[in-house]
Amino acid sequence: MSEIRHNWTKEDILNIYNKPLMELLYEAATVHRLHHDPNVVQVSTLLSIKTGGCSEDCGYCPQAARYHTDIEGNNLMSVQQVKAQALRAKATGSSRVCMGAAWRNVKDGEEFDEVLEMVRTINKLDMEVCCTLGMITENQAKRLAEAGLYAYNHNLDSSEEYYKEIISTRGYQDRLDTIDNVRKTNVTVCSGGIIGMGENLEDRAGMLVALSTLNPQPESTPINALVAVEGTPLEDEKPVEIWDMIRMVATTRIVMPETQVRLSAGRTQMSKEGQAMCFFAGANSIFAGDKLLTTPNPDVNEDMKMFGLLGLNPQKPFTKKVQPQTVEAGDSKFEALGEKPKWTRPEHTIERNEAAKEKAKTLK
Ligand code: SF4
Repeated sequence: MSEIRHNWTKEDILNIYNKPLMELLYEAATVHRLHHDPNVVQVSTLLSIKTGGCSEDCGYCPQAARYHTDIEGNNLMSVQQVKAQALRAKATGSSRVCMGAAWRNVKDGEEFDEVLEMVRTINKLDMEVCCTLGMITENQAKRLAEAGLYAYNHNLDSSEEYYKEIISTRGYQDRLDTIDNVRKTNVTVCSGGIIGMGENLEDRAGMLVALSTLNPQPESTPINALVAVEGTPLEDEKPVEIWDMIRMVATTRIVMPETQVRLSAGRTQMSKEGQAMCFFAGANSIFAGDKLLTTPNPDVNEDMKMFGLLGLNPQKPFTKKVQPQTVEAGDSKFEALGEKPKWTRPEHTIERNEAAKEKAKTLK
């Protein structure tokens, strides 16, 4: 087994990223085979349980209330709705349901209690449950763990330096603090980022430094290609070249050998051949379902056809880690603390975010 290093530098990572492609692919595929079955790919279904109306200003996101996009917001879904969707996902080969809510951070109260019930319900369907709900405190992480949460997603998005060019309403350290809070439980960490936001190669490497130097490294890392949505500050960014995606996946695989590397947003822009190259380079997870929160995603039947073509098999749930136990609400050891943590609000100015906000005012 190749050892897991936590001291990667930007320079090391750039040297890997910029290798001649055939060498990069060979090295990544070799690491991949040492740590994973190359014919198995984990399939997750992403479910937007609360869409739109978000107070943050993430430059890539159509759910930010301040921009003018076509997203129709909705209130929190019911537990029954979520259960029905989870059963559908299970029937079509997903081993994991990831529930996303467009919140800055979790607030204790009725809605969070509902989310905890959703976690219990899905875990009882013998599926892995993941949540992406924004920033959370240690107590909230513990309550999620107790309900049976398998993974918590909190992306670093980009390098610390470039993060400031994309988001002004929270700081990089807030992201790391939330990941830290999740690590105080036995919930696994899912954290990755987005390429194609105008960042340079150093930023891509910087993001991988931040992720790979976490100890332990995240159990899963989504690599997203920006889907430039009209009305958002990044609407004019060019689509990511497939070669960039392949290099990013391969580099992630080499620096984080055990991590499940997930092809996430932007798959509709990729050919089957391009995706096959990514699987060869070490990607071993995808999001299934025709929507990724709010942006388009390949049809699940198309994905299963692609799996058939490539001889890939969906990963069974709880292959990497045992199923957590669910503690019922009435037996919980933790109570809602109603904390008001001081997540930062740097509020520096990002010109293109401001311009998109001003434009939205004239259109709304
Ligand atoms: S990415 Fe999340 S936090 Fe940022 S605006 Fe979108 S929903 Fe809000």
